Amino acid sequence: MIGGAVAAVSYTVGYFASGGNKARITMADNSTTSTYKYDPTIGSDTMQNNINKTRKNFYYDDYGVGDETSGDAAWTDGTMNPGNDTHVLAYTTKANYFTGKSNIVYSPLAAQKPQLLAETMIHETGHALSNKLRLLNESIDWEKEFGLKNRYTEMLDTTEEFAVYKLEHISRTINNYPIDDFIPQFRLDKMFKLLDFARQNLIETAYKKLMSVFQRSMK
Ligand SMILES: [Zn+2]
Repeated sequence: MIGGAVAAVSYTVGYFASGGNKARITMADNSTTSTYKYDPTIGSDTMQNNINKTRKNFYYDDYGVGDETSGDAAWTDGTMNPGNDTHVLAYTTKANYFTGKSNIVYSPLAAQKPQLLAETMIHETGHALSNKLRLLNESIDWEKEFGLKNRYTEMLDTTEEFAVYKLEHISRTINNYPIDDFIPQFRLDKMFKLLDFARQNLIETAYKKLMSVFQRSMK
């Protein structure tokens, strides 16, 4: 769906080794779609204005964000379906090889709810910066590796996602966002301990390198 096949052979090994060659997808969970009700009468101009206005909270910081737009609603809850009948809140594309910038596409649901948009923009901007910095990213299969399955295991399927969801507690505290919107800290700590040192290190590195995105007051 995003990016498609990589045909060029001139890409460096480092580019493939980094997390920069994959799109990051944020699913909407049931609590999000029950808290926020989609209004199909709100037009795309309004949503684009919301996106542009929310981005101003980042000033001129260069986090490697390219174009930001709202996508088409595929479902009555205002989320997108880029494939597999998923309910997607937002996604960040792979970085453009030449500019290092990643585009972010918000679902109409996210683009029309200011607080949800702010939370989502912080999350996706974390991915854009990770792409820009070409941070290493490794997958985590909680069920296969640890026999673990809970409502968070699919969200925490890479070291980068783990770092981003952990970092969300910083912006949550600054902005007083409802704690139910986030993965509980004790849960993150418990799951972190299961991982090998290599992936713990990747999470810790990403946590430090992406932190400035999350130390942010949003209007
Ligand atoms: Zn993510």
